[in-house]
Amino acid sequence: MDVNALVPSLWASSVEREPDGVLSVGGVSVTELAREFGTPAYVLDEDDFRSRARAFRQTYAEVFGGLSGGADVYYAGKAFLCTEVARWVRDEGLHLDVCTGGELAVAKRAAVPGERIGFHGNNKSVAEIRDALDYGVGRIVVDSLEEIDRVAAVAAELGVVAPVLVRVTVGVEAHTHEFIATAHEDQKFGLSLSGGHAFEAARRILDQPDTLRLLGLHSHIGSQIFDTAGFEVSARRIIGLHTRIARELGVELPELDLGGGFGIAYTTEHDPLPPRTLAAGMAEIIERECRADQVAVPRISIEPGRAIAGPTTFTLYEVGTVKPVDLDGGAQRVYVSVDGGMSDNVRTALYDANYSCTLANRASEAAPALARVVGRHCESGDIVVKDEFLPADIGPGDLLAVPGTGAYCRSLSSQYNHTPRPPVVAVRDGVARVIVRRETIDDLLALDV
Ligand SMILES: *Cc1c(COP(=O)(O)O)cnc(C)c1O
Repeated sequence: MDVNALVPSLWASSVEREPDGVLSVGGVSVTELAREFGTPAYVLDEDDFRSRARAFRQTYAEVFGGLSGGADVYYAGKAFLCTEVARWVRDEGLHLDVCTGGELAVAKRAAVPGERIGFHGNNKSVAEIRDALDYGVGRIVVDSLEEIDRVAAVAAELGVVAPVLVRVTVGVEAHTHEFIATAHEDQKFGLSLSGGHAFEAARRILDQPDTLRLLGLHSHIGSQIFDTAGFEVSARRIIGLHTRIARELGVELPELDLGGGFGIAYTTEHDPLPPRTLAAGMAEIIERECRADQVAVPRISIEPGRAIAGPTTFTLYEVGTVKPVDLDGGAQRVYVSVDGGMSDNVRTALYDANYSCTLANRASEAAPALARVVGRHCESGDIVVKDEFLPADIGPGDLLAVPGTGAYCRSLSSQYNHTPRPPVVAVRDGVARVIVRRETIDDLLALDV
């Protein structure tokens, strides 16, 4: 085992180990980054983010070009959003999903055109709906029957027609290479297909043409998905509803959103599909189902979050303490404590997620030792990387890099234990710059009255 080797699928494309053993990204070494910006820090490869975004947009446009005149890619902002990232999304020609007034405010500040914004959420406030319609968002994804009236009332007040999609629960829950298909779905999102609520929602929306315009149906079936088997079932079901609406209500809806959830590699156990394979698989399914139902193929949209943001970023930590612990059976585990933890990456504690990591400030010839990387918080579950082999000579002052932290780490971060949150540093062409600054203790104290 070579503890100095980098597995390319886990890292942003420009990350390398230099001949002197130091990790670099976009031509900037991590020792330089640590000196200039401190640790912990989220380090983001801008070109990698842009090229993943572009790959989704171009591939889906090409693959669906002949079928439905193209496809729209909505970056799911909840994975990671800040003003600069929203600008990249805008510049690369993607659309953007937001699900709160806060995320919408970021999109507005980044001048993302309203028509390219999709607004999600199962409990949007009237003020948020007003704000969204006032900005001219391209779609509001309706998540309950109450919300239909709420959106219609705000649209009437503003004198606009609100473009809406209906979020449908299709009874498919997909994760990794598995999916579960049931008749009913016991969850808060969406309107049920089997219970008839989704059809009823479509009927009610179509009944109010002065205030609402029904663009289409929406389904999102899971996360960390590695094949199209779940989409096969969900597409059949949702196109079934699309067809029923055409037959019984006389409207062939122009759009269909298949959601996100495309997986990435956190460790070598994951083997994600390239966007092209994914797009081709989805196109084949959609074409087949629409042909079988004799309806035109609606314009397709998808909503990747993790698959764009996740691999672009690693978290850079400094090691503070190293503690060997004896395990039953005579083995040892080294607990490596870093200067962050569950406040900057809660996924291990929350989802039992697996990450990997590497010694970043030098290469080492020392033997590999079984290690667990833990944070500095007052919880024994404050684990960043459950199991990893690190060189046995790792010690205080070393830098450690954890890849795959671009999605659902900063966005799910907290100030637990009054810990100021790390900055996001974007690197490109040998230049590093802060795109979200580090929080300070003063920021935290400023909230106390
Ligand atoms: C979370 C979410 C996404 C993005 O999921 P990823 O796993 O990050 O791709 C897309 N659409 C909806 C509706 C979501 O809730």
